[in-house]
Amino acid sequence: AERLKAGLAKTRDRLGKSLAGLFGGGQIDEDLYEELESVLLTADMGIDATQHLLSDVRNRVSLAGLKNGSELKGALQSSLTDLISPLQKPLDVSTHKPFILMVAGVNGAGKTTSIGKLAKYFQGQGLSVLLAAGDTFRAAAREQLVVWGERNGVQVIAQDGGDSAAVAFDAVNAAKARGIDVVIVDTAGRLPTQLHLMEEIKKVKRVVQKADPTGPHEIMLVLDANNGQNALSQVKSFDDALGLTGLILTKLDGTAKGGIIAAIAKQRPIPLRFVGVGESIDDLRPFIAKDYVDALFD
Ligand code: GDP
Repeated sequence: AERLKAGLAKTRDRLGKSLAGLFGGGQIDEDLYEELESVLLTADMGIDATQHLLSDVRNRVSLAGLKNGSELKGALQSSLTDLISPLQKPLDVSTHKPFILMVAGVNGAGKTTSIGKLAKYFQGQGLSVLLAAGDTFRAAAREQLVVWGERNGVQVIAQDGGDSAAVAFDAVNAAKARGIDVVIVDTAGRLPTQLHLMEEIKKVKRVVQKADPTGPHEIMLVLDANNGQNALSQVKSFDDALGLTGLILTKLDGTAKGGIIAAIAKQRPIPLRFVGVGESIDDLRPFIAKDYVDALFD
């Protein structure tokens, strides 16, 4: 929780400072609600989540007969916790063996970094991990993954050239043959507007299903928190194309836009499995709604 708090420093700085003024002690009136609205929008919660939170806070205020701005804080904390709690669903990889986890995202979102962190995370739970180097566009990325795997005791399936669907297929079969617990299928970075690439990633999913009709068991999108509202449109596009089952939100440590979590909760409540709060290998945390809210307000 401390690490998360440090990670959210920028969002807290922006949000917290403005909120401190609101919670100062004046009367709860329309001016105060207007200020609250602009503070929430500034943290990149988006219009929908902001309106939702405002009306929920108003309800709590009138139900409890609150009068003073200082009492608004608790109401907002409760509203925000209720809104984002549905995103808190930790990933359970014990349901299948091998558990097949497919990872998608735009270039630079933090996909490669997050896959390394995930592999370490699973190893830390005593699970064996195999990586499918499905980013066949970048030879350097593949090489990096192979070297990284050798160093960290993670098996890597890669092909020279080839297509990512074939790599994924081989990886799932190798994982079955070797009794691996978790297969992580990397894919090349792509934008939702690159339609041929979106077709290609759908094919990766179909081919994984051929190798194992029960899979993939998790289709995860990696998102850069700095993208703010744009991250939300990535969630929608990738979800429409693939049927997402989980999200990783990276770089929460470097952004004042942590409010994007509220926007996702309101518009496309896909489980937020992990948040990235730094560049080092253990800077990946399961998402805990209460920790997030506490980190923002305390
Ligand atoms: P990819 O193109 O999606 O594979 O992105 P990379 O994994 O190469 O990451 C792009 C950059 O973001 C790298 O410099 C990473 O170190 C950095 N990065 C990834 N996750 C985080 C995070 O949670 N916090 C911070 N501060 N940097 C991150």
